[in-house]
Amino acid sequence: MTEETLFSKIATGEIPADIVFQDDRVTAFRDINPQAPTHLLIIPNKIIPTVNDITPQDEAVLGHMFIVAKKLASLEGIAEDGYRLLVNCGPHANQEVFHLHMHLFGGRPLGWMVKPVE
Ligand code: AMP
Repeated sequence: MTEETLFSKIATGEIPADIVFQDDRVTAFRDINPQAPTHLLIIPNKIIPTVNDITPQDEAVLGHMFIVAKKLASLEGIAEDGYRLLVNCGPHANQEVFHLHMHLFGGRPLGWMVKPVE
């Protein structure tokens, strides 16, 4: 069995979080250290550590994450102005929690996609 993660424990309610949406496939909650006025995390309830671990069987849940992201952007009132969906994978992307998650950022202009090299 795959080991539990911080985020799988949020999905089961074992660890508290500000959950904004949940169904049988995904959970969405507010990031504990928000980087924008809206900063949500959308996770599959199933533990998938990184994008490198996804399989063809995960296609439906991954697509569902986008459907939920669109719905939540609308509920947050940021759909028209725009927002950013971001998934970090591995050390070069500074992935900190090894349970696949999609960040949803919005509520202010978000700047360049990747910080330019200084
Ligand atoms: P990443 O760097 O893509 O792995 O992002 C992990 C995100 O999880 C960071 O933005 C953290 O602020 C967030 N985070 C860590 N612990 C929690 C928690 N208990 N509840 C909500 N968000 C969290």
